[in-house]
Amino acid sequence: MKVTAGVDLGGTAVNYTFIATDGRWLIDGLCEHPARAQEGPAICLQQIADGLAIAASRAGITQSDIAVVGLDTPGPASATGVLSARGSTNFVHHDWAGFDIRHALELKLVKPVTYLNDGNAGALWGHFAIFGTTPATSVSAIVGTGLGGGVIVDGAVIKGRKGFGGELGHVLIPYQSIAGIAGMSPDCNCGRVGDLEALCSLTAIRRTLLPYFLTRYPSHELAALEPAQAAKRVRGLAERGDPMCREIFRVQAHALGLFFDEMVNTFDPDALIVGGGAIETSKAFQDWFVGEIRAGMPAQRAEQADIPIHVMPNGDTAGSRGAAIEALGYARKADLV
Ligand SMILES: [Zn+2]
Repeated sequence: MKVTAGVDLGGTAVNYTFIATDGRWLIDGLCEHPARAQEGPAICLQQIADGLAIAASRAGITQSDIAVVGLDTPGPASATGVLSARGSTNFVHHDWAGFDIRHALELKLVKPVTYLNDGNAGALWGHFAIFGTTPATSVSAIVGTGLGGGVIVDGAVIKGRKGFGGELGHVLIPYQSIAGIAGMSPDCNCGRVGDLEALCSLTAIRRTLLPYFLTRYPSHELAALEPAQAAKRVRGLAERGDPMCREIFRVQAHALGLFFDEMVNTFDPDALIVGGGAIETSKAFQDWFVGEIRAGMPAQRAEQADIPIHVMPNGDTAGSRGAAIEALGYARKADLV
């Protein structure tokens, strides 16, 4: 049996999956191994290899069954998997600067390795979950600590010239049209004011939305907590109907609505997809959130008003699954499966 592997390298853990050529997943849920990324590439690559062997035995396959390995990591990195020379949050060890992780893993495993950044991998999984291998176009926004995602056109991930294709968090949106946020200044780490990540992410809640709304709800229980702790509690409270936290999620949803409207007019996609920790919630809250996204979109022309907005399934395995799908596509083209 030939399969491709998905290897999702995060800051602390590597998550694995395998997909067979008939589209079957050989691992349900998370299959993790410690990443030890902070100890540098030599140790981390060995961790990836060791974990892959453990995952293969758990899936009941041998190393020789694995035709291609799909790797995804947090960015910034080039489209071919060269990590930024300026370093990044997840790859702080100096040996990671400018490191070609895709090539190094290929040498380590003696197998072809494909590369995606984690946002694009998640987007590819969301797309595949809805459309399978049917050619289709989708835009996925994944709301986590930051805002990642990706654009899939006719089944292919848009990686871009330098690997920044689908860097949706830093697309500016006309946020001033969102009701109830007069005077807010949504500053992003990237230097922009009013991009999607600055209004729709856990970081946005901590830096901008929570401080803004606490001035209107000064006696709110979250006012007594450290900002980082308070921000993490907003989703749970919103789900239980807390008025201030609902407002914070309404603003995030309306920001997504404005962003998706830009995507509708740029790509005329088959679907819009939203995922990430922010909406790993009850179905009822997801439905409310998607309804608010739609409410936040400017009026659509009649042909586009019915564009579906999906919630991405299996959020915590999205990266590894997307990486495995990318590897499967490569394996098919190269006649390796
Ligand atoms: Zn930004």
